[in-house]
Amino acid sequence: NFAQLKQPDLIKQACYVNGQWLTTESRLDVFNPANGEQLGHIPCLNPPQVEQAIHSAQQAFNNNQESDWPQRCQQLLRWHQLIMEHKSDLAFIICLEQGKPLNEALAEIEYAASFVRWFADFRQFDHGETLASPLPNKQFQTQHAPLGVVAMITPWNFPAAMVLRKAAAALAAGCTLVIKASELTPFTANALVELAHQAGFPAGVINIVSGDAAQIGLQFCQHGAIKKLSFTGSTRVGKILMTQSAPQLQRLSLELGGNAPFIVFEDADLDAAVAGLIASKLRNNGQTCVASNRIYIAKAVASAFNEKLLARLSALSSGYGWQAGVDCGPLINQHAKTKLQQWIKESEALGAERVFEQVNIASAANFFPITVLNKVTDEMPVAQHELFGPVIALQTFTDETEAIQRANQTGAGLAAYCYSLNIHRCQRLSQQLQYAMIGINEGIISAAVSPFGGINESGFGREGSHLGLAEYQYVKSICYGLG
Ligand code: ADP
Repeated sequence: NFAQLKQPDLIKQACYVNGQWLTTESRLDVFNPANGEQLGHIPCLNPPQVEQAIHSAQQAFNNNQESDWPQRCQQLLRWHQLIMEHKSDLAFIICLEQGKPLNEALAEIEYAASFVRWFADFRQFDHGETLASPLPNKQFQTQHAPLGVVAMITPWNFPAAMVLRKAAAALAAGCTLVIKASELTPFTANALVELAHQAGFPAGVINIVSGDAAQIGLQFCQHGAIKKLSFTGSTRVGKILMTQSAPQLQRLSLELGGNAPFIVFEDADLDAAVAGLIASKLRNNGQTCVASNRIYIAKAVASAFNEKLLARLSALSSGYGWQAGVDCGPLINQHAKTKLQQWIKESEALGAERVFEQVNIASAANFFPITVLNKVTDEMPVAQHELFGPVIALQTFTDETEAIQRANQTGAGLAAYCYSLNIHRCQRLSQQLQYAMIGINEGIISAAVSPFGGINESGFGREGSHLGLAEYQYVKSICYGLG
C-alpha cells in the first residue's frame, strides 16, 4: 500500500485550491482494482467549493502578465525535474490505483513528463506574425493570447499522462487550471499537483477538485469564467459536455473513444505484426483509446499469423501489477468485465470461435483472461464496440480495397494500424485510412512532438506538438493604421 512509498506525503486525500490542500467531511472512497482494498478517500466538494477553485484560477489569470512566460517555463522545467525524481513513487501510485504493471506505469510517467518538458522548451519558439500588407497605410500583425481559465476532465486509464498532456500545454500558453481527475484514480493527479506546488507555481495557477462528476462537469460548462473545457473520456460523456457548453460557446477539446483497425497484409513481416498487435492491444490490458480493436488479417497469412500470435500470448502472465514479471493487470472494475463477457457471448452466438483463453490468471474479481476469437465479422458486438480489454477479435480479408473499406466503416476516427513491407501500399494506406493517427509497421505511435487526437465520434482537438499549444490560445489580429 501507499505506506511503501519513499515519500508517503505525496498522497493527498484532499483538493488543491488557491495553493492549499483542503479536505471536507463528505468523501468518495478509492479502491485498488486488483484486490479491492480501499486505498483512501478524496473530498466530495459542493458547488460553492468548486466555485472557489474557479475563482482562484480567475484571480491567478488576472495577475498573469504577458511577459511572465519565461518564469512559467522555468516552473514547468522544475516540475518536470521533480516528476522524474519521484518517478518510482508516482509509478507505484498508478500501479495501485489503476492496476497496470509497474514497468508500464513507469513508462507512463516518462511519457507524461515528456509533455511538460516539450511544452516548456517549445514555448520560446511560439510567436505571432507580421503579415505582408497589400495596403500602403495599414500594417497587420497577429499575436497568440492565452484563453484564460481552462477546465480539464480526465479519465482513469492514464492517470498521469491525461493530466500532464493537457496541463503542460495550457500552462505554457499562460492559462490557469481547474482539473477534475477521475475519481477512480485521483492520487496520481494529486501527487503531480503536490509536485507542481513544490515547483513553485503561484497559488491559483493550478487547482484540483473532486466530487460528483456530472455536477462538476455541468458547473464547468455553465461558468462564464471558464473559457475552455478539455475532456478525455467516453464519447457518451463528450456529447453531454458539448451539449451543456453550447449555450455559452465555450471552446472544447474532446478526446473520445476509438475503434482502431489493425490490418496485416500478406507482404507484412509477421513477427513484427504480432509484436505490434500485442503492444497496441495489450498495453494497459487493452484499456487505451488507441488500442487495436478490429483486427483484419489477409487470408493468405491468417493461419501463420494466428500460430505466431498464440505462441506469443501463451508466454504472457497476468497478475498484480506490483509483482515482478507481470504483463497484464486487472480491468478497472466489474462493469468493464461484465460488458466484455456479454459481447463475447453474443458474438459466439453469431459464429465467433474462442481459440485461446489465458490460464493462470489472478483469481481476484477484476481479472480477465486474454481471449482470442476467430471467425469474427464486422457485425458482431466484439467488432462494433470499443472493447477496452484483452480480447483479440480476428477477422480476415481478401484484398486491399476490401481491407480499407472495412477499416473505414466505423463512426470512430482515432487510431489505425497497418503492416506491410510494400512502400507503395503503405503510402496508399496513409492516404486512404480515414483516421487521425496511423501506425505503419508500428504499434506504439504517440510522442510529445506529434499531434494526438481524433475525428468524427472520436472528437476533436489535438494534444502534443505546436497544435497542442494552440488549443489554449486565441489568435489576435491587429491592424495598425499608418495615417
Ligand atoms: P470512462 O468510460 O473511460 O470511464 P467517462 O467518460 O465515464 O470515461 O469518464 C471520464 C471522465 O469523465 C472521468 O473523470 C469522469 O469522472 C468524468 N465524467 C463522467 N460522467 C461525467 C459527466 N456527466 N459530466 C462530466 N464529467 C463526467
